[in-house]
Amino acid sequence: MRKMNTATSAVANREDKAEVFFDALFRDSKGRVVDPPASLHDMPVADTHAHLDMLPHPHLALARSKANNVEFIVTVVDPSEDPAYTYDQLAIWQHQARELLESWQLSNVPHRFVAAAEAPRVRAIVGCHPHNAAKFTCEVERALIQAAARPLTAGIGEIGLDYHYDLSPRPVQQEAFRRQLALANEMLLPVALHLREAHEDGLAILRKEGVPEAGLLLHCFNLDFATLEPFLALGCMVAYGGPLTFKKSDELRVAAARTPRERIVTETDAPFMAPHPLRGTRCGPEDVVFTAACLVEAFGFEGIEARQLLNDCYENARRLFDRDTTAWQDSPAALQTLLDHAKGVV
Ligand SMILES: [Zn+2]
Repeated sequence: MRKMNTATSAVANREDKAEVFFDALFRDSKGRVVDPPASLHDMPVADTHAHLDMLPHPHLALARSKANNVEFIVTVVDPSEDPAYTYDQLAIWQHQARELLESWQLSNVPHRFVAAAEAPRVRAIVGCHPHNAAKFTCEVERALIQAAARPLTAGIGEIGLDYHYDLSPRPVQQEAFRRQLALANEMLLPVALHLREAHEDGLAILRKEGVPEAGLLLHCFNLDFATLEPFLALGCMVAYGGPLTFKKSDELRVAAARTPRERIVTETDAPFMAPHPLRGTRCGPEDVVFTAACLVEAFGFEGIEARQLLNDCYENARRLFDRDTTAWQDSPAALQTLLDHAKGVV
């Protein structure tokens, strides 16, 4: 998700005027403190899809995440926007997060018990969003390849098709998707796939081009099991985010509970789509704990079973997006070949 519609920008505007609390407590849209879910048994949780660069205080989000057991975060970078920003800032955000966590340990500011003043582990994925497909020039493709070769980068994404907003012409979206899918295949990187009202065309392209060997994650899945099945058959993994917790999402919860657990990960799409009971607030990666709790509930699990499911989801996220990708640093000739072949789609 990227482009805000009027409703979400209204929420964001309200949020921009709202007071920012530099603590680790959750608050709903009325500012009331919300208890974190009790069913997580202190298990680590991963947010496999956050736009840290769209948050007003990324370091606060990192500190709040750590304080709420969100130990692994994948942040999204778009080479058609400002690809350098996240790569340049991340170490600073993590340093500031450590300082904030230390101050919480020492002060009386309301906070949860923080065992270690350490920022969560963060990896990046880089991809030209379907909204920006019409900007996928040769230069943007080269920026994408350069960013993809950085050791921080763990995958290509979010890429795909968005026929809801149609901000780029559909044939251009399809071509940008194909091109980036091919790059992921060549660079042996997994893909985070964004599909909105375009699942049929998305499937057709995946069947033709092939699912990358390193894996493919269907991001923000919010439909029923019949829609999910062909993606599972292709070997895709599935990310459940805020929509899983929405009142009307019964079909989605049924689909989640039928998903093979070695295929499931949790995510937010922060700053969008805060989960219940935080709807109407700006979402941060720490909010993923409510989605994880909802997932456990959808499976009807408690105790050891709940712990095992949470552990599986966390390990799935690490396996997909926390692999060693430093090899490109040692292969300048191979990288140059890729750069030489970049041509973009517009
Ligand atoms: Zn997104």
